[in-house]
Amino acid sequence: MSDPRTILVIDDEEAIRDSCQQVLTKAGYDCHTAVDGIEGLRLVNQLEPDLILLDLMMPGIDGLQALGQIRKTHENIVCIVITGYATIESAVDAMKNGAFDFLPKPFTPEELRLIVNRGLEQRRLLEETRELREEKEKMQQYFITIVAHELRSPLLLVKQYLDLIVGGKMGKVDDVAGEMLSGAHSTLHGLLDLIADWLKLARINAGDITGNLETVKACGIFTKVVEDLTGQAESKGVTLKLEPPSGTCVLRAHAESLDVVFKNLVSNAIKYNRPDGTVAVRCSRADGRLKIDVADTGIGIPEKELPFIFEDFFRVKSSKTVEIPGTGLGLSIVKKIVEGHGGSIEVESELDEGTTFTVFLPLEPEAEEEERD
Ligand code: ADP
Repeated sequence: MSDPRTILVIDDEEAIRDSCQQVLTKAGYDCHTAVDGIEGLRLVNQLEPDLILLDLMMPGIDGLQALGQIRKTHENIVCIVITGYATIESAVDAMKNGAFDFLPKPFTPEELRLIVNRGLEQRRLLEETRELREEKEKMQQYFITIVAHELRSPLLLVKQYLDLIVGGKMGKVDDVAGEMLSGAHSTLHGLLDLIADWLKLARINAGDITGNLETVKACGIFTKVVEDLTGQAESKGVTLKLEPPSGTCVLRAHAESLDVVFKNLVSNAIKYNRPDGTVAVRCSRADGRLKIDVADTGIGIPEKELPFIFEDFFRVKSSKTVEIPGTGLGLSIVKKIVEGHGGSIEVESELDEGTTFTVFLPLEPEAEEEERD
């Protein structure tokens, strides 16, 4: 049989403490009592109870203060506040501050048992949710490790061999075999891109980004993206232009992830462009946010496909896109990173005219004020 649930009653009224202990012990719970907030908080740390019955009106640390402390350190303990009719407003306050429910005085043993049972059911659900979340995170981490090491590493080795053969470093290969090896080489490239994108997505989903935000100057990100992709643009005959923001724009961001966002958007704008087209990256301030347009003069996206382009693995299928390699994960990664920064992304497109992706990112208000002073 599993251990009985532990309940702590914190109340300065002896009669309430004694009657609760009697009723709850009889119902099979391991019930403890504390005479005030200080003793209560000490017992919370010592016993780690499943549920707390907490009087709101106590001398010294009152119920609301004790509740605030408990919520900070023990988020899964269910707290029920005990209150007189006169203090119903503070009971509502307590609910807003994380209490599960309130029990008005006087109450019958039946009312006490009912509310405690409901509270413990809530506790069970919270525990189950936490266990499932931990299990999911463990599986995800395991899968990331398998893909990164067991799948990606051997494929990289094969790619290195093919780089040498296709690059002519191993001498002449006959034409038919050469063609087959080139095909294998580009298929392998596509597969490695897919694995790289999938790993990025998995790491974002595992919360690797939002836990690591730092103060970042936005300008450096765009300059680097444009520098890194100028070669790709030139090889397609596309002109790449950057209009940086005026002054210094400071963001709370994960710089590496924002680099991924704008590399994806600019690389798409080049990939889906016409040979003599242009890509413009324009930055400006809008209502405390940084607005970044990535505008191209390319093939555009059909209106009926627009609602789906941020979904995992979605690619527009048409005679114009069939030869363009891609994984269909780029925009999904972009959206998740932007939203992980508290921002948003919009898209406008006209077939055969071009597409504009607009990203909004919240600016650091304090840094902005310093800049203006
Ligand atoms: P992919 O790896 O296929 O480029 P993305 O998730 O980055 O995947 O984009 C999803 C789809 O949206 C692309 O396959 C393409 O059809 C369309 N798309 C994205 N960006 C553009 C763009 N700038 N112009 C036209 N189509 C685009």
